Amino acid sequence: MGSGKVTSTVSSMVKGKRITVAGLGVSGVPAAKVLHGLGAHVTVVNDGADERARDQAAELEALGVTVRLGDGATLPEGTELIVTAPGWKPDKPLFTAAAEAGVPIWGDVELAWRLRGPDAAPWLAVTGTNGKTTTVQMLASMLRAAGLRTAAVGNIGVSLLDAVLGEERYDVLAVELSSYQLHWAPSLRAHSAAVLNLAPDHLDWHGSMEAYAADKGRIYEGNRVACVYNAADKATEDLVRAADVEEGCRAIGFTLGTPAPSQLGVVDGILVDRAFVADRHHNAQELAEVSDVSPPAPHNIANALAAAALARAFGVPPTAVRDGLRAFTPDAHRIALVDDLDGVAYVDDSKATNTHAAEASLAAYDSIVWIAGGLAKGATFDELVAKSAKRLRGVVLIGADRALIRDALARHAPEVPVVDLDRTDTGAMLAAVREARRLAVTGDTVLLAPACASMDMFANYNKRGDAFAEAVRELGAGA
Ligand code: ADP
Repeated sequence: MGSGKVTSTVSSMVKGKRITVAGLGVSGVPAAKVLHGLGAHVTVVNDGADERARDQAAELEALGVTVRLGDGATLPEGTELIVTAPGWKPDKPLFTAAAEAGVPIWGDVELAWRLRGPDAAPWLAVTGTNGKTTTVQMLASMLRAAGLRTAAVGNIGVSLLDAVLGEERYDVLAVELSSYQLHWAPSLRAHSAAVLNLAPDHLDWHGSMEAYAADKGRIYEGNRVACVYNAADKATEDLVRAADVEEGCRAIGFTLGTPAPSQLGVVDGILVDRAFVADRHHNAQELAEVSDVSPPAPHNIANALAAAALARAFGVPPTAVRDGLRAFTPDAHRIALVDDLDGVAYVDDSKATNTHAAEASLAAYDSIVWIAGGLAKGATFDELVAKSAKRLRGVVLIGADRALIRDALARHAPEVPVVDLDRTDTGAMLAAVREARRLAVTGDTVLLAPACASMDMFANYNKRGDAFAEAVRELGAGA
């Protein structure tokens, strides 16, 4: 990583300071390197001491950084600032000690925000329970189509620190932010920001739904041009209302229906803007067709509208919104059509790792054989099953917590045939797809949208999706 854009103001913020970096890993190691490079006295503390941690520690120690493995709880003497990995829970003893000693705590996003120079690119920021990555990528594609130098950053693509400190110059950044990152980023002030949706997730970390929502809502604080909310999700609008924004900043809604003034929405298969147009009470601007969005599932059209709202807030012309959508290809395992066998579509949405995502996924098809199950992470399935029951041709269950889904199906969809594979081995996916094929009739969709995490059976959701695609290929080849 270069430090091409570091100004003297930036380096004076950390130079000579005693800084504790909490947590090795994807954010801690680069943060420690950058801070050390800027002349800070860096100590990294880490709970674990496994092989990976030892390797990372050795790399940092070779540079002159102090690393304490196996002790993430004790505040090092003289610490003036903590820079924490976003995943560290706020109730950790290290943070209690910091609060008692009056030591400020920054997350990785706060660090990047503070280290950006005075003429740095503005941020268009996106958060939400689901759809963040897709929306940020769509947004970057629109900005690029408008000829702007940009990158999708955050949990994806370029790291925030790289984007802020590297040699590459940007006009604007499309930034994905998680609720953890927002929790630890008190001074972030985006140009404009969107909260896509809010459903219970990570409540063990945040402590309550209110605390989770409040952390998400921080994304709107200090916005200059637009706070983009989901008109179908009142909680997101409430967060806009609660935010302290700059004078003149507007609340912009997105909806899958006809847009009201100051909203973007859909009319007769066309995405339209009734927010960033002259005389919005009588006028609307056509942006793109629904068929320009891939895949054109309802929740993804919502993502496209949110991205368009942020792009328009930044002054991107309508044609670039359209061209950006056309140029966009979704990441793997997000409603990806794997194949069509005998008139049945096989769709991989392995990324649907929670019930809210699976609900959106199931809403995109009329008649579904649903492959579900895995690690439930404390979720309940009654609402998901009750809402989706009418679309289900059949269900195939795999994974550790499948009984929770089976019980919800018995309660809310007793007539739907269910095959409980009672397996958690990797090979179960082939059996699941085979059972799904047996249940499906022409015109149906076999949908892998597990509503659960994958780690009981697979290394991650990518591997789970790959196993599904492989199984479909085997069946197609006559296995
Ligand atoms: P994130 O970065 O928030 O995890 P992704 O864009 O990677 O979001 O999408 C993750 C999954 O969430 C998708 O596979 C899809 O099932 C679901 N999803 C995407 N957009 C939405 C949305 N707007 N509302 C509900 N679910 C969504």
